[in-house]
Amino acid sequence: MPKNSPTSLDPRSPLVLDTRELPRRPGALRTVERVVPAPSDLGVELIGVPEGADLDLDLRMESVSEGVLVSGTVSGPIRGECGRCLREINESVTVTIQELYAYENSTTDATTEEDEVGRMQGDLIDLEPALRDAVVLALPNNPLCRQDCPGLCPECGVHRDDLPADHSHQQIDPRWAGLSQLTRTEE
Ligand SMILES: [Zn+2]
Ligand SMILES: [Zn+2]
Repeated sequence: MPKNSPTSLDPRSPLVLDTRELPRRPGALRTVERVVPAPSDLGVELIGVPEGADLDLDLRMESVSEGVLVSGTVSGPIRGECGRCLREINESVTVTIQELYAYENSTTDATTEEDEVGRMQGDLIDLEPALRDAVVLALPNNPLCRQDCPGLCPECGVHRDDLPADHSHQQIDPRWAGLSQLTRTEE
């Protein structure tokens, strides 16, 4: 029984790399530079690459004895929400990819697990799983509009940036009100 599931990759799919032009001779190289639309759900709950946004692939495919090594970078915009103040986050992310895809029926194919080393399907490589892993790993778990975002006032929901430093909703205990007036007149 064949170990690999039957080929279902579409060579025209934007995240499928076609190695037919790449000689199966160790050291042979081809570069892949293209802009592709981001697949859906490329991200985590609060932040991610919007579906259809431009992903810039800048990759090289290199033949090695047992397969093809794909390396390079992928960059694209990320959009999300600050975990503290809900302001929109508009940034970009660049991730590094380095992934070996074993030839079908190579020794590597026979001796490794598919989650250790990627697999080629015929001449095709499905880049999406590696790309997904790399992008998701690069995203912050707790995205912030800026590192020191002070967040919102829990009482009134106004951004602390827009409030005076001594902003407070503390009700002065009526028993102390007189005293507070007293201190104020002394100032
Ligand atoms: Zn914020
Ligand atoms: Zn407030």
